[in-house]
Amino acid sequence: MRGYRAEIAFDGDHALPDGALVLVEGGVIVGIEPAGFPPPDGCQVVAHPAMLPGLIDSHVHLCADSGPAALEQLPDLSAEHLRDIIATAERQNLHAGVTAVRDLGDLDWAVVDRPRRADGPTVVAAGPPLTSPGGHCWNMGGEGTGVDALRRAVLDRAERGADVVKIMASGGVLTPGTDLLACQFSLEEMRAVVEEAHRHGLPVTAHAHGLPAVERSVEAGVDGIEHCSCFTSSGPHLPPELGARLAAAGTYVCPTLGSVPGIEPPPHVLARLQTVGADLEQHRAHAGALYRAGVTLTAGTDAGIGPAKRHGLVPMAVADLVDAGMPASQALASSTALAARACGLEARTGRLAVGLDADLLMVDGDPLTDVSVLQRPRAVVSRGRDVVLAG
Ligand SMILES: [Zn+2]
Repeated sequence: MRGYRAEIAFDGDHALPDGALVLVEGGVIVGIEPAGFPPPDGCQVVAHPAMLPGLIDSHVHLCADSGPAALEQLPDLSAEHLRDIIATAERQNLHAGVTAVRDLGDLDWAVVDRPRRADGPTVVAAGPPLTSPGGHCWNMGGEGTGVDALRRAVLDRAERGADVVKIMASGGVLTPGTDLLACQFSLEEMRAVVEEAHRHGLPVTAHAHGLPAVERSVEAGVDGIEHCSCFTSSGPHLPPELGARLAAAGTYVCPTLGSVPGIEPPPHVLARLQTVGADLEQHRAHAGALYRAGVTLTAGTDAGIGPAKRHGLVPMAVADLVDAGMPASQALASSTALAARACGLEARTGRLAVGLDADLLMVDGDPLTDVSVLQRPRAVVSRGRDVVLAG
Protein backbone atom coordinates (compact mmCIF):
# COMPACT_ATOMS: atom_id res chain seq x y z
CA MET A 1 0.00 0.00 0.00
CA ARG A 2 1.12 3.56 -0.73
CA GLY A 3 -0.11 6.85 0.62
CA TYR A 4 -0.29 10.32 -0.95
CA ARG A 5 -0.63 13.15 1.51
CA ALA A 6 -1.48 16.83 0.99
CA GLU A 7 -2.60 19.54 3.40
CA ILE A 8 -4.69 21.05 0.59
CA ALA A 9 -7.02 18.73 -1.33
CA PHE A 10 -9.87 19.01 -3.82
CA ASP A 11 -11.86 15.81 -4.29
CA GLY A 12 -13.31 16.55 -7.74
CA ASP A 13 -16.43 18.29 -6.42
CA HIS A 14 -15.32 20.10 -3.25
CA ALA A 15 -12.34 21.16 -1.18
CA LEU A 16 -11.51 18.76 1.67
CA PRO A 17 -11.04 21.08 4.67
CA ASP A 18 -8.60 18.75 6.47
CA GLY A 19 -6.53 17.89 3.43
CA ALA A 20 -6.17 14.25 2.46
CA LEU A 21 -4.17 11.10 2.89
CA VAL A 22 -5.13 8.94 -0.09
CA LEU A 23 -4.30 5.25 0.32
CA VAL A 24 -3.66 3.28 -2.85
CA GLU A 25 -3.41 -0.44 -3.47
CA GLY A 26 -3.52 -2.34 -6.77
CA GLY A 27 -4.02 0.87 -8.73
CA VAL A 28 -7.20 1.72 -6.82
CA ILE A 29 -8.00 4.19 -4.03
CA VAL A 30 -8.64 2.07 -0.92
CA GLY A 31 -8.88 4.81 1.70
CA ILE A 32 -9.24 8.55 2.15
CA GLU A 33 -8.36 10.09 5.49
CA PRO A 34 -7.56 13.61 6.73
CA ALA A 35 -3.97 14.67 5.97
CA GLY A 36 -2.98 14.30 9.64
CA PHE A 37 -4.09 10.68 9.86
CA PRO A 38 -1.30 8.22 10.76
CA PRO A 39 -0.67 5.90 7.82
CA PRO A 40 -1.09 2.14 8.31
CA ASP A 41 2.07 0.19 9.25
CA GLY A 42 4.40 -0.36 6.31
CA CYS A 43 2.61 2.17 4.11
CA GLN A 44 5.05 4.40 2.27
CA VAL A 45 3.78 7.99 2.13
CA VAL A 46 4.64 10.71 -0.39
CA ALA A 47 3.72 14.28 0.57
CA HIS A 48 3.05 17.30 -1.63
CA PRO A 49 1.44 20.68 -0.83
CA ALA A 50 -1.80 20.07 -2.74
CA MET A 51 -3.66 17.22 -4.43
CA LEU A 52 -6.64 16.74 -6.72
CA PRO A 53 -7.88 13.98 -9.03
CA GLY A 54 -5.99 13.59 -12.31
CA LEU A 55 -7.41 15.91 -14.97
CA ILE A 56 -9.72 14.71 -17.74
CA ASP A 57 -9.73 16.11 -21.27
CA SER A 58 -13.20 15.48 -22.69
CA HIS A 59 -12.15 16.40 -26.24
CA VAL A 60 -8.88 15.21 -27.75
CA HIS A 61 -7.62 13.76 -31.03
CA LEU A 62 -4.83 11.33 -30.19
CA CYS A 63 -4.15 10.77 -33.91
CA ALA A 64 -3.29 14.46 -34.27
CA ASP A 65 0.31 15.49 -33.59
CA SER A 66 -0.22 19.23 -32.88
CA GLY A 67 1.67 20.13 -36.04
CA PRO A 68 0.43 22.66 -38.60
CA ALA A 69 -0.95 19.81 -40.77
CA ALA A 70 -2.16 17.60 -37.91
CA LEU A 71 -5.56 16.79 -39.43
CA GLU A 72 -4.75 17.20 -43.12
CA GLN A 73 -1.93 14.65 -43.02
CA LEU A 74 -4.01 11.87 -41.42
CA PRO A 75 -4.76 9.79 -44.55
CA ASP A 76 -1.07 9.88 -45.58
CA LEU A 77 0.36 8.50 -42.34
CA SER A 78 1.79 5.00 -42.19
CA ALA A 79 0.30 2.71 -39.55
CA GLU A 80 3.59 2.83 -37.65
CA HIS A 81 3.81 6.63 -37.72
CA LEU A 82 0.21 6.85 -36.52
CA ARG A 83 0.95 4.50 -33.62
CA ASP A 84 3.89 6.71 -32.62
CA ILE A 85 1.74 9.84 -32.76
CA ILE A 86 -0.90 8.25 -30.52
CA ALA A 87 1.70 7.02 -28.02
CA THR A 88 3.35 10.46 -27.90
CA ALA A 89 -0.01 12.18 -27.41
CA GLU A 90 -0.86 9.83 -24.54
CA ARG A 91 2.47 10.57 -22.88
CA GLN A 92 2.05 14.33 -23.31
CA ASN A 93 -1.35 14.15 -21.64
CA LEU A 94 -0.03 12.15 -18.69
CA HIS A 95 2.93 14.47 -18.20
CA ALA A 96 0.52 17.40 -17.97
CA GLY A 97 -1.51 15.63 -15.29
CA VAL A 98 -4.25 14.54 -17.69
CA THR A 99 -4.94 10.93 -16.68
CA ALA A 100 -8.06 10.33 -18.79
CA VAL A 101 -9.06 11.50 -22.25
CA ARG A 102 -12.06 11.17 -24.53
CA ASP A 103 -11.00 10.89 -28.16
CA LEU A 104 -13.65 12.54 -30.34
CA GLY A 105 -12.36 11.59 -33.76
CA ASP A 106 -9.71 9.12 -34.83
CA LEU A 107 -8.56 7.95 -38.23
CA ASP A 108 -10.26 4.72 -39.28
CA TRP A 109 -10.67 3.38 -35.70
CA ALA A 110 -6.98 3.72 -34.80
CA VAL A 111 -7.75 4.78 -31.22
CA VAL A 112 -10.80 2.55 -30.66
CA ASP A 113 -8.86 -0.52 -31.87
CA ARG A 114 -5.61 0.29 -30.07
CA PRO A 115 -4.95 -2.12 -27.19
CA ARG A 116 -5.28 -0.21 -23.92
CA ARG A 117 -1.94 0.12 -22.14
CA ALA A 118 -1.26 -0.07 -18.44
CA ASP A 119 1.15 2.87 -18.68
CA GLY A 120 -1.11 5.17 -20.68
CA PRO A 121 -4.00 7.40 -19.65
CA THR A 122 -7.54 6.03 -19.48
CA VAL A 123 -8.98 6.41 -22.99
CA VAL A 124 -12.57 6.43 -24.20
CA ALA A 125 -13.13 6.97 -27.90
CA ALA A 126 -15.66 7.73 -30.62
CA GLY A 127 -13.93 6.30 -33.71
CA PRO A 128 -14.34 8.26 -36.95
CA PRO A 129 -16.87 11.09 -36.45
CA LEU A 130 -20.10 10.83 -38.43
CA THR A 131 -20.00 13.50 -41.10
CA SER A 132 -21.76 14.26 -44.37
CA PRO A 133 -20.02 13.37 -47.67
CA GLY A 134 -17.13 15.82 -48.02
CA GLY A 135 -18.11 17.32 -44.65
CA HIS A 136 -16.01 18.34 -41.65
CA CYS A 137 -13.20 15.81 -41.03
CA TRP A 138 -14.42 13.58 -43.86
CA ASN A 139 -10.84 12.30 -44.19
CA MET A 140 -11.16 10.38 -40.90
CA GLY A 141 -13.44 7.86 -42.62
CA GLY A 142 -16.89 8.50 -41.16
CA GLU A 143 -18.89 9.90 -44.11
CA GLY A 144 -22.57 9.02 -44.37
CA THR A 145 -25.93 10.43 -45.31
CA GLY A 146 -29.58 9.44 -44.94
CA VAL A 147 -31.36 7.95 -41.94
CA ASP A 148 -30.70 4.31 -42.81
CA ALA A 149 -26.98 4.72 -43.48
CA LEU A 150 -26.53 6.75 -40.31
CA ARG A 151 -28.36 4.16 -38.20
CA ARG A 152 -26.05 1.49 -39.63
CA ALA A 153 -23.04 3.68 -38.89
CA VAL A 154 -24.11 4.02 -35.26
CA LEU A 155 -24.65 0.26 -34.98
CA ASP A 156 -21.16 -0.22 -36.44
CA ARG A 157 -19.74 2.03 -33.71
CA ALA A 158 -21.55 0.12 -30.98
CA GLU A 159 -20.34 -3.22 -32.35
CA ARG A 160 -16.75 -2.05 -32.71
CA GLY A 161 -16.58 -0.91 -29.13
CA ALA A 162 -16.82 2.87 -29.40
CA ASP A 163 -17.76 4.58 -26.12
CA VAL A 164 -19.53 7.58 -27.60
CA VAL A 165 -20.89 8.72 -30.97
CA LYS A 166 -19.50 11.95 -32.38
CA ILE A 167 -21.45 13.70 -35.11
CA MET A 168 -20.38 16.76 -37.07
CA ALA A 169 -23.55 18.86 -37.04
CA SER A 170 -21.90 21.80 -38.83
CA GLY A 171 -18.82 22.51 -40.90
CA GLY A 172 -15.49 23.07 -39.19
CA VAL A 173 -12.76 25.65 -39.17
CA LEU A 174 -10.06 23.22 -40.30
CA THR A 175 -11.89 21.57 -43.20
CA PRO A 176 -11.83 23.86 -46.26
CA GLY A 177 -15.04 23.86 -48.24
CA THR A 178 -17.29 23.18 -45.27
CA ASP A 179 -19.72 25.83 -44.06
CA LEU A 180 -19.40 26.92 -40.44
CA LEU A 181 -22.93 28.28 -40.41
CA ALA A 182 -24.76 25.48 -42.23
CA CYS A 183 -26.13 22.23 -40.82
CA GLN A 184 -24.57 19.05 -42.21
CA PHE A 185 -27.55 16.84 -41.30
CA SER A 186 -31.32 17.18 -41.22
CA LEU A 187 -33.17 17.07 -37.92
CA GLU A 188 -34.56 13.68 -38.95
CA GLU A 189 -31.01 12.34 -39.48
CA MET A 190 -29.76 13.76 -36.20
CA ARG A 191 -32.73 12.29 -34.31
CA ALA A 192 -32.12 8.87 -35.88
CA VAL A 193 -28.48 8.97 -34.74
CA VAL A 194 -29.43 9.90 -31.18
CA GLU A 195 -32.19 7.28 -31.01
CA GLU A 196 -29.98 4.51 -32.38
CA ALA A 197 -27.04 5.45 -30.15
CA HIS A 198 -29.19 5.54 -27.03
CA ARG A 199 -30.67 2.17 -27.97
CA HIS A 200 -27.12 0.80 -27.73
CA GLY A 201 -26.33 2.71 -24.55
CA LEU A 202 -24.00 5.21 -26.22
CA PRO A 203 -24.13 8.97 -25.64
CA VAL A 204 -23.95 11.35 -28.60
CA THR A 205 -21.95 14.51 -28.73
CA ALA A 206 -22.26 16.94 -31.63
CA HIS A 207 -19.66 19.27 -33.08
CA ALA A 208 -21.61 22.47 -33.73
CA HIS A 209 -20.27 25.91 -34.66
CA GLY A 210 -23.20 27.66 -36.32
CA LEU A 211 -26.21 28.69 -34.27
CA PRO A 212 -28.59 26.60 -36.47
CA ALA A 213 -26.48 23.47 -35.83
CA VAL A 214 -26.47 24.09 -32.07
CA GLU A 215 -30.26 24.54 -32.12
CA ARG A 216 -30.76 21.43 -34.22
CA SER A 217 -28.48 19.38 -31.95
CA VAL A 218 -30.52 20.43 -28.91
CA GLU A 219 -33.74 19.63 -30.76
CA ALA A 220 -32.39 16.18 -31.63
CA GLY A 221 -31.62 15.45 -27.97
CA VAL A 222 -27.85 15.04 -28.06
CA ASP A 223 -26.04 14.50 -24.74
CA GLY A 224 -23.18 16.88 -25.44
CA ILE A 225 -22.20 19.73 -27.75
CA GLU A 226 -18.59 20.48 -28.74
CA HIS A 227 -17.52 24.09 -29.43
CA CYS A 228 -21.15 25.30 -29.21
CA SER A 229 -19.89 28.52 -30.82
CA CYS A 230 -23.40 29.75 -31.78
CA PHE A 231 -21.87 31.56 -34.76
CA THR A 232 -24.07 33.81 -36.84
CA SER A 233 -22.90 35.88 -39.81
CA SER A 234 -22.00 38.59 -37.27
CA GLY A 235 -20.23 36.67 -34.51
CA PRO A 236 -21.43 34.40 -31.69
CA HIS A 237 -24.95 34.90 -30.36
CA LEU A 238 -26.63 32.97 -27.54
CA PRO A 239 -30.40 33.48 -27.63
CA PRO A 240 -31.69 33.41 -24.02
CA GLU A 241 -34.17 30.62 -24.77
CA LEU A 242 -31.36 28.43 -26.17
CA GLY A 243 -29.20 29.02 -23.09
CA ALA A 244 -32.15 28.15 -20.85
CA ARG A 245 -32.84 24.99 -22.84
CA LEU A 246 -29.22 23.81 -22.71
CA ALA A 247 -29.16 24.49 -18.97
CA ALA A 248 -32.44 22.69 -18.30
CA ALA A 249 -31.43 19.65 -20.37
CA GLY A 250 -28.10 19.39 -18.55
CA THR A 251 -26.34 19.10 -21.91
CA TYR A 252 -22.58 18.82 -21.48
CA VAL A 253 -21.14 21.69 -23.44
CA CYS A 254 -17.43 21.75 -24.18
CA PRO A 255 -16.39 25.17 -25.48
CA THR A 256 -12.93 23.75 -26.36
CA LEU A 257 -11.02 26.48 -24.57
CA GLY A 258 -7.32 26.36 -23.70
CA SER A 259 -4.49 27.21 -26.05
CA VAL A 260 -0.74 27.63 -25.90
CA PRO A 261 -0.10 31.26 -24.92
CA GLY A 262 1.53 33.34 -27.64
CA ILE A 263 0.74 31.04 -30.56
CA GLU A 264 -1.64 32.67 -32.98
CA PRO A 265 -3.85 30.41 -35.09
CA PRO A 266 -2.57 30.21 -38.70
CA PRO A 267 -3.81 32.88 -41.15
CA HIS A 268 -6.23 30.51 -42.92
CA VAL A 269 -7.93 29.73 -39.59
CA LEU A 270 -8.22 33.41 -38.68
CA ALA A 271 -9.61 34.08 -42.16
CA ARG A 272 -12.23 31.34 -41.70
CA LEU A 273 -13.24 32.80 -38.35
CA GLN A 274 -13.51 36.25 -39.90
CA THR A 275 -16.13 34.97 -42.33
CA VAL A 276 -18.46 34.58 -39.35
CA GLY A 277 -17.28 37.75 -37.64
CA ALA A 278 -15.61 35.78 -34.84
CA ASP A 279 -12.27 35.75 -33.06
CA LEU A 280 -10.80 33.93 -30.07
CA GLU A 281 -11.55 36.76 -27.62
CA GLN A 282 -15.21 36.60 -28.57
CA HIS A 283 -15.16 32.85 -28.14
CA ARG A 284 -13.98 33.25 -24.53
CA ALA A 285 -16.64 35.90 -23.93
CA HIS A 286 -19.22 33.52 -25.41
CA ALA A 287 -18.11 30.81 -22.96
CA GLY A 288 -18.86 33.33 -20.20
CA ALA A 289 -22.35 33.85 -21.63
CA LEU A 290 -22.93 30.08 -21.63
CA TYR A 291 -21.78 29.91 -18.01
CA ARG A 292 -24.03 32.77 -16.91
CA ALA A 293 -26.96 31.04 -18.64
CA GLY A 294 -26.41 28.06 -16.33
CA VAL A 295 -25.06 25.70 -19.02
CA THR A 296 -22.96 22.75 -17.82
CA LEU A 297 -19.43 23.30 -19.17
CA THR A 298 -16.52 20.86 -19.42
CA ALA A 299 -12.85 21.79 -19.81
CA GLY A 300 -12.05 19.81 -22.98
CA THR A 301 -9.51 21.33 -25.34
CA ASP A 302 -9.63 19.78 -28.87
CA ALA A 303 -6.04 18.69 -28.20
CA GLY A 304 -3.75 17.83 -31.08
CA ILE A 305 -5.32 19.76 -33.94
CA GLY A 306 -2.59 22.41 -34.28
CA PRO A 307 0.42 24.09 -32.69
CA ALA A 308 -1.75 26.21 -30.36
CA LYS A 309 -3.65 23.07 -29.36
CA ARG A 310 -1.01 20.69 -28.14
CA HIS A 311 -1.94 17.77 -25.89
CA GLY A 312 -2.15 18.40 -22.16
CA LEU A 313 -3.77 21.86 -22.24
CA VAL A 314 -6.53 21.20 -19.70
CA PRO A 315 -4.88 23.55 -17.15
CA MET A 316 -5.15 26.37 -19.71
CA ALA A 317 -8.82 25.52 -20.39
CA VAL A 318 -9.50 25.67 -16.64
CA ALA A 319 -7.78 29.08 -16.50
CA ASP A 320 -9.91 30.27 -19.44
CA LEU A 321 -13.10 29.13 -17.67
CA VAL A 322 -12.06 31.14 -14.60
CA ASP A 323 -11.35 34.15 -16.86
CA ALA A 324 -14.83 33.67 -18.32
CA GLY A 325 -16.28 34.16 -14.83
CA MET A 326 -16.54 30.63 -13.45
CA PRO A 327 -15.52 30.10 -9.79
CA ALA A 328 -12.31 28.06 -9.46
CA SER A 329 -14.07 25.18 -7.67
CA GLN A 330 -16.46 24.79 -10.58
CA ALA A 331 -13.70 25.09 -13.19
CA LEU A 332 -11.76 22.38 -11.36
CA ALA A 333 -14.86 20.16 -11.26
CA SER A 334 -15.33 20.75 -14.99
CA SER A 335 -11.97 19.09 -15.55
CA THR A 336 -12.38 16.29 -12.97
CA ALA A 337 -15.68 14.97 -11.50
CA LEU A 338 -17.98 16.68 -13.97
CA ALA A 339 -15.79 15.79 -16.93
CA ALA A 340 -15.87 12.16 -15.76
CA ARG A 341 -19.68 12.24 -15.83
CA ALA A 342 -19.64 13.79 -19.30
CA CYS A 343 -17.33 11.02 -20.52
CA GLY A 344 -19.14 8.13 -18.81
CA LEU A 345 -16.11 7.61 -16.57
CA GLU A 346 -17.68 8.54 -13.21
CA ALA A 347 -17.39 4.98 -11.89
CA ARG A 348 -13.68 4.87 -12.72
CA THR A 349 -12.05 8.25 -12.23
CA GLY A 350 -12.47 12.00 -11.69
CA ARG A 351 -12.80 12.01 -7.90
CA LEU A 352 -10.82 11.20 -4.80
CA ALA A 353 -13.12 8.37 -3.74
CA VAL A 354 -12.65 4.85 -2.44
CA GLY A 355 -13.00 2.28 -5.22
CA LEU A 356 -12.02 4.62 -8.04
CA ASP A 357 -8.78 4.41 -10.02
CA ALA A 358 -5.86 6.08 -8.25
CA ASP A 359 -5.53 8.97 -10.73
CA LEU A 360 -3.92 11.85 -8.86
CA LEU A 361 -2.33 15.20 -9.60
CA MET A 362 -0.04 16.82 -7.05
CA VAL A 363 0.71 20.54 -7.30
CA ASP A 364 2.59 23.12 -5.26
CA GLY A 365 -0.22 25.42 -4.15
CA ASP A 366 -3.96 25.73 -3.62
CA PRO A 367 -5.71 25.40 -7.01
CA LEU A 368 -8.86 26.92 -5.49
CA THR A 369 -7.11 30.25 -5.06
CA ASP A 370 -4.81 30.02 -8.09
CA VAL A 371 -5.66 27.58 -10.89
CA SER A 372 -2.33 28.32 -12.60
CA VAL A 373 -0.71 25.81 -10.20
CA LEU A 374 -2.17 23.10 -12.47
CA GLN A 375 0.33 24.17 -15.13
CA ARG A 376 3.20 22.95 -12.95
CA PRO A 377 2.51 19.36 -11.89
CA ARG A 378 4.80 18.09 -9.13
CA ALA A 379 3.68 14.50 -9.43
CA VAL A 380 1.16 12.53 -11.44
CA VAL A 381 -0.27 9.13 -10.56
CA SER A 382 -2.12 7.15 -13.24
CA ARG A 383 -4.05 4.12 -12.01
CA GLY A 384 -1.64 3.81 -9.12
CA ARG A 385 1.54 4.19 -11.19
CA ASP A 386 3.82 7.13 -10.60
CA VAL A 387 4.31 8.89 -13.91
CA VAL A 388 7.93 9.88 -14.48
CA LEU A 389 7.77 13.56 -15.31
CA ALA A 390 10.27 15.02 -17.75
CA GLY A 391 12.59 17.74 -16.42
ZN1 LIG B 1 -12.24 18.09 -32.23
